[in-house]
Amino acid sequence: MNFKDKRIELVNKLKRERRIYTREIEKAFLETPREMFVPESLKNCAYIDTPLEIGNGQTISAPHMVAIMVEAFDLKKGLKVLEIGAGSGYHAAIVSKIVGEKGHVYTVERHESLVEFAKKNLKNAGITNVTVETGDGSEGLSKYAPYDRIYVTCAAPDIPSPLVDQLKDNGTLMIPVGKMICNLELIEKKGDKIVKKNLGGCAFVPLVGKYGH
Ligand code: SAH
Repeated sequence: MNFKDKRIELVNKLKRERRIYTREIEKAFLETPREMFVPESLKNCAYIDTPLEIGNGQTISAPHMVAIMVEAFDLKKGLKVLEIGAGSGYHAAIVSKIVGEKGHVYTVERHESLVEFAKKNLKNAGITNVTVETGDGSEGLSKYAPYDRIYVTCAAPDIPSPLVDQLKDNGTLMIPVGKMICNLELIEKKGDKIVKKNLGGCAFVPLVGKYGH
């Protein structure tokens, strides 16, 4: 079976499991070649619904986790989004398809080798509306703030205050809170207040850095 057929089969599985239920999101998954976001030796595993090693002890998230996060995030065309934890660049690639050419995804990664890996993968996949930056994402990315949406792909001990500061009013932050085993939290910024919603349990590699573990 070729990669395209495997991708269709995976998307159908995610639809049956109700992880994907929005047409735009289905389209983003069908248009994003996950085999281009994993190391050469793991290409044949790219369409297994599991996290995979990408070096530096880090992983590309399982497709169902990316699906859960994008479906719950109210993404729209034209939004400016910040991701913390670029890793392979795959999740950012999916989000970039949903926000479209008028939108933009900024993503921060602390490991220089993964920054290069993500940049290379995004370029090979022909994606031009994602900017990858090196840095401590627990401090956000003030250079391009404020953002409509911010999401974190690693587990934080608590909600880093710079991430709330860098959100626009009525913007939303999605963040796993805990250590490895965590709760996926959705935080809405309403003036100087925040409204929190717990989306359920999940497992992520830790967020390190100033506001990390
Ligand atoms: N979104 C990624 C998943 C990456 S796993 C993908 O689609 O492949 C989480 C990533 O967060 C790891 O690459 C890890 O190095 C990174 N990370 C952890 N703490 C960080 C921090 N403080 N700043 C930036 N990146 C961080």
